[in-house]
Parts: sequence; structure tokens; C-alpha cells
Amino acid sequence: MREWMVRSLRIVVMAAVAAVAATQIGALQDTKVTGLAVNPRDGYATITWKPVTGATEYHIERTPLDDAGKPTADGAISAVWRPNRQIRQQSPSFADAGFVPGRRYQWRVRAMMGTTAQEFSAPVAAMTRAPFGPIEFQTGFEKREGADYTTYDEEIEWTARIAKASPRVRIVPLGTTPQGRTMNLFVIGNPKPIATAAEISNGPAAGANCNVHGNEPSGREGCFMMIRELALSNDPWVVDILTRATILIVPSFNADGRANNTRGNSAGQDLNRDHGRITQPESQMFAAFLRDYTPEVMVDGHEFGNTNTCDLPFLWPRHSNTAPSVHNISKLGLVEGHLYSAGATDGWWGCPYPPPGIDGAQTFTRVTGLKNMVTTLVEARSSGGPTRPLENGNQPESRRRKAYSQLWSIRQAIAYHRAERPAIAKAIADGIEFQKANKGRIVFHGDWDIPAFPAPHPGDSPPPGGAPGPDQILDPPPCGYFLTEALYSAKLKDSGTLPEKLWTSPGERLAAHGVAVEKRNGGYFVPMVQPLRGLINILLDARTPPAPIVAAERVFDCGK
Ligand SMILES: [Zn+2]
Repeated sequence: MREWMVRSLRIVVMAAVAAVAATQIGALQDTKVTGLAVNPRDGYATITWKPVTGATEYHIERTPLDDAGKPTADGAISAVWRPNRQIRQQSPSFADAGFVPGRRYQWRVRAMMGTTAQEFSAPVAAMTRAPFGPIEFQTGFEKREGADYTTYDEEIEWTARIAKASPRVRIVPLGTTPQGRTMNLFVIGNPKPIATAAEISNGPAAGANCNVHGNEPSGREGCFMMIRELALSNDPWVVDILTRATILIVPSFNADGRANNTRGNSAGQDLNRDHGRITQPESQMFAAFLRDYTPEVMVDGHEFGNTNTCDLPFLWPRHSNTAPSVHNISKLGLVEGHLYSAGATDGWWGCPYPPPGIDGAQTFTRVTGLKNMVTTLVEARSSGGPTRPLENGNQPESRRRKAYSQLWSIRQAIAYHRAERPAIAKAIADGIEFQKANKGRIVFHGDWDIPAFPAPHPGDSPPPGGAPGPDQILDPPPCGYFLTEALYSAKLKDSGTLPEKLWTSPGERLAAHGVAVEKRNGGYFVPMVQPLRGLINILLDARTPPAPIVAAERVFDCGK
């Protein structure tokens, strides 16, 4: 058992002792829940109530109603609120989800004292919020009520119609996948999107990478719904967001993997281990998008198959080379400051994502942090788990909850960018200055720690720390790397089964990242004194696990 597991067990034991003590007090008091309120939101309903002294958890019952308000089926417990669910436990809330939006339901809540159920609250009925916009702009997923996901053909047809209907939307094809599918970027602004990538890069921009793992589709559906609202709504929130920033959304980073329902792309490469080496066409197109548009805030949508985790595990850029200002604002601002807090208000349960071991992975969050962007991964828990007992595996109820929780996450990232843009812009500018200074160690593999938050944090177990060992550190750093002409230009056969005509060279990949390179006698020099400094040794040093793009020569004497 790892040390962090022992620590989290200790927290559970302490919580149980506290609960028993509280129960003895509660026995003297009224234990029926009061103050129940239902707030219909986008695909979910926030259920709130007054806490009952001594309650160890709460059960939320949902009953479907007809238009006349009569039950059409028996009520069932759809949600279990537990004390580790949110950071403000004195104001319990639960985002009940999985129902079909736009229908009428009734809720009741009861406290549990250990295994003893207390009396249910008075019921509250509500009409849930229907999907936004005219029905012809609903996706395949919505029309089929989550019976299956939106197909690629449906996506392309829907994309064209949204772009035609809304002057706020410009579609930029980023390129074509190995199997011939298009990777589209939605550029959204009000009253119309800013004309060029260079102008957008110089201003405020935020967005989402919706679907890197083809068999984790809910983020893509959340993105479609967010796009539709941004494109067509005149709600003041939407108009305000789009008047002050450009929103950049890539629904299908891995269109081949989605079409084939595989984690990796058609060459078998996990694209979320390929943001550094960018061996695959999809990764190169996406890197060029980040280079040209430099979004300041991004979310990266996933699903996580741990039934015991929270609704929405988050993870910020944590590679040890990440500039402190960028790491800190991503962690303390975006995730702990905004997403955990908004989750406690709206009823979604956020927690830190446990990374799956030390693998030197060149993931979205690690690499975007090294590109001085404020980002987080978001993992919709793939099944209901013990806190959402109506979900039965990967069924429509579960798919709807996941898609709407992803929509919530994207909306919150955009809202955070809107609220904190000056601080975000400063953190990014400070990060660029930090990197350009090339002062202090560089790290090949190692991470900032991910502490539990708060204590006890919302989540079951904090991820293991990943501080770099001495063999993963180089201090002082080189002032650059040198590649011979041959190394720079040779097309690389890389991992997976990518056809030879799609192989690319280190020079092409450095260009896709936007790494500055100087032509020298016999080759190319890559100076460390540049904004992408934290990424350069990942790309070019032989010591990088699992592998750099190519092993270049470290240069320590730059003739200063
Ligand atoms: Zn994933």
C-alpha cells in the first residue's frame, strides 16, 4: 500500500469517528430534511437542502412526472450525497443528472444516520431545462437521448449548419486525419470572430480540446452543446463572454479513434502521450493550432473508469519545468479556486485526478503548461458508482450525466477566464519571462506534487507525488541543443503503424510547436532562451523518458 493510500484511509477513519459522535447529538433533534430546493440547469438539476445534524449522508429520490404532475413510475434513489463531496459541507448540494432534459420530475431528500434512513423531506417538483435552441440544431446524441453518440457524418453536417446559422462562428479545418476525417476548429466571437489567428493570439482566448481518446466521447458532446449556445444564444452571459474573448473549441481531435471507438488513433498511438514528440498528424495539427492561436485557458475532456472517484477529477499542468506562475494559477486559480468552488455551488463533485503512475507521459496538460497555458484535464467518471445508483454501466442515463458534466466544466473554464483574465494574462507573461531567462535546473521527468485539497479533500485519494530524482535533473541547464542537418531533416518512423508518406522530421515538428531554431554551419541550433524552454529538453534530450523526438547535442558554451 502506498503512503498516500494510508493517509487517505486515516482520513476516512477520522471522518467515521466524527460521524458517530455527531449522530449521538442528532438523535435529540428533528432529522427530517427541510429547505429542499431544485434549480434546473443545463442537463442537470441542482438539489439543495438544509443540513441535518448528525447525518452521515443523504439520499435523493427522483420520480418522473407527467404533464399533469402525476408520477409515471416509482421514485428511486438517484443520488447519494457524501461528506467528502464538496468543499462547503455546511451547504449541501447535488447535481442530479442522467434524466432526460426537458421533462418533469419530483425530488425528495432524506438524511441517513449510519444505515438508518430518516424521514423524507416534502417533495419538490420541477420542469427540467430543455436543450438550448431550435430542435434542428440538436445533435444526434441529443435526438437519441443518449442512446448513442453523435456520428462523424452527423458532426460534419451539424458543423456546416451551425456555421451557416451564426455569424459568430468560423470553422477552420486544422487538417485531415490518416483515415481522411477533418479536424475542425470552431472560432467563436461576437458579433463575429476576430479575423486572423495572429490577432486572436494577441488577445483573450479560451477553449476546449474535447475528445482525445476516441472511446471517451462525452467531452465531445459537451462541446457541441457549448458551441450551439455560444453560436445562437443572446443570453447576456454568452454575449459578454464573446464580446471580450475568442472561444476556440476542437470537438474531434481524434476523429478516427472516435469513429472506431478506440482510445488511440488509427495508427494505434495514444494521442494524449504524443503532445511532445507529435509523431502523429493529429498531434501536429493540434500543436500548430496551439502555436498559432495561443489560447490562455483550455480544458481537455476525458472519461475515467474508477467508479469510486468523484464526478469530475481535474488535473493541472504539473511537469517540473512548468513556470511557477502558470502552475500556481492553474492549480490554485482554475481548479482549486474556481472549479471546486463552482462545483460546491452547482452540486458537481470535483477532486484531483490521480495520474496513472510515472510514465513520462507527454500529455495535454503537461505540454500546454510548458507552453505557458492555464489548463486542466477533466475526467467524467465513466459509470455512476455508489453516488449515482440509477446509472447502470454505459447506458443513456450515464452518458447524459457525463455529457452534461463536461458541458458544465467547459462553461466553468470559460467563466473563469472571463472573471480572472488580468491575473491569467499576468501569470502567462511571467511564465514566458521565467522560461526565457533559462535560469536553474531543467527536469526530464518529474512533477509538482498534487496535495489533497482541502483536508479532507473532495476525492478519495490524492495522487502520488512525482518529484524528480537526481537522475532526472540537469543543473546548470545547457544554453541550447544542436542538431546536425541529417538529424534535423530525417523523416522519422515512429511508434504505431503510421504510413511512411505521413512520417515527419524533427525540424517539421519543432516548427509545428513553434520552437525557435537558428541555422548554423552543418545544422541547427535550438536556444534555451525562449518561451518554450521547458519543452525543449523534453523534445531533444536523450535522457527524456520515454523518448525525445531525437537525441540532439547539449550545448553549454554559447559564447557569452
Ligand atoms: Zn482519456
